[in-house]
Amino acid sequence: MNDRTPEQPAEIVAQLRATFRSGRTQPVEWRVTQLRRLRRLLTEHGGDLAEALHTDLGKSTTEAFRTEVDFTIREIDHTLEHLDAWLRPEPAPVPGHLGDDARAWTRFDALGVVLVIAPWNYPVQLLLTPMLGALASGNAVVVKPSELAPATSAAIARLLPRYLDTSAVAVVEGAIPETTALLAERFDHIFYTGNGAVGRIVMRAAAEHLTPVTLELGGKSPAFVDRGADLNVVADRLVRGKFLNAGQTCVAPDYVLTDPETARALESEFVRAVEALFGAEPKESDAFGRIINERHFDRLSALLDSGRSVTGGATDRAAKYIAPTVLADVDPASPVMREEIFGPILPIVTVADLDEAIAFINDRDKPLALYAFTESDTTRERLAAETSSGGLGFGLPLAHLTVSDLPFGGVGESGMGSYHGRYSIETFSHRKSVLEKPLG
Ligand code: NAD
Repeated sequence: MNDRTPEQPAEIVAQLRATFRSGRTQPVEWRVTQLRRLRRLLTEHGGDLAEALHTDLGKSTTEAFRTEVDFTIREIDHTLEHLDAWLRPEPAPVPGHLGDDARAWTRFDALGVVLVIAPWNYPVQLLLTPMLGALASGNAVVVKPSELAPATSAAIARLLPRYLDTSAVAVVEGAIPETTALLAERFDHIFYTGNGAVGRIVMRAAAEHLTPVTLELGGKSPAFVDRGADLNVVADRLVRGKFLNAGQTCVAPDYVLTDPETARALESEFVRAVEALFGAEPKESDAFGRIINERHFDRLSALLDSGRSVTGGATDRAAKYIAPTVLADVDPASPVMREEIFGPILPIVTVADLDEAIAFINDRDKPLALYAFTESDTTRERLAAETSSGGLGFGLPLAHLTVSDLPFGGVGESGMGSYHGRYSIETFSHRKSVLEKPLG
């Protein structure tokens, strides 16, 4: 899989830096060409990537296209449509003491050589979307796919050099030794997606070179269900959002937070919704994925005892299968509530009312997303104003990250910085202040 030795990163970075210095990546035409070629790669080899995603994660072709290949194509199209406008210098008002003839504006400068480190759960989308933002901003880029999705990593390493300018884009495959060697190099920005423990390693390494970082991390994203919400709709949407990619989604609803009465009423709705989506035997369903590896399978299996199983609970280690599971009567101190679940287990935790729900959320790390299902404007406003999370979704989980005009990122333990659309340009550029006063 990996034929690069840990010595090579220095050479790779030096080559990309030379390309950047030459000015090759600056013209908008170069950037647009790279994005168009990436688009062509995705249309010509979407099937190969889907196959790799099926090998690594048991993703169905439909899901592979919807959440990875087509998602990335949409982001490319959005960027191609707006790039000129996003890059336009922005005038700033000049104070009177500088005279009438002075002008001021900001312009975006590319940063240089960017490192993108991607995780395994959406190994195409989460590698290519930051990369295309870095290229659209005029940078050279090293991408490091996750070794835990080896088929996808190999496909990316094989395909990218066939389409993109190899003097400005490099793929480095590998695990901890290769990533550690990369991190010793000086980059102009590091964009990391994954868990917070490695996020800290990345940030420490970046500090050596005073390199800015974007950390796209995870955490426990709560789903608050209000009294009086239409539980039929709520259960359908939560089941879709939670069990997509077998729950291995950074913005998946991690747990349900609701009052005891609603919790009871939700139980039968969850049973119905799971069966409606995956049939009586989810293991046979094409729409339900598998756990990435045995380590995660064992970690998740140990969480199944944290409550009463309303639906699911079945496991098969050889197949890395864990049924879509809903747990009721879950104690907030139980193992399933102590860490990000990142798998197909949905605990229901009860609180007395909205005040207690807000306190519950604020007592814990700031989540990547907060979801709420409510008909009440006041409840929506209070949740928006009184809690902090990377994103906030009313009535629909996950979907906010598909809006290219919204910044996607976390806060506190769920990360720092953001991207997508114009926010990728903000992330991968320096906004330079310029003042001009005529000499005459
Ligand atoms: P992972 O194990 O694939 O790790 C991510 C990357 O870090 C990989 O490329 C890996 O090679 C590298 N890495 C691992 N250990 C390292 C080390 N010691 N030194 C340097 N590099 C190292 O993925 P993961 O961390 O298991 O991903 C799951 C986590 O990521 C979850 O917490 C999830 O919520 C989060 N996540 C966040 C987002 C987001 O957009 N915010 C998206 C997906 C996943």
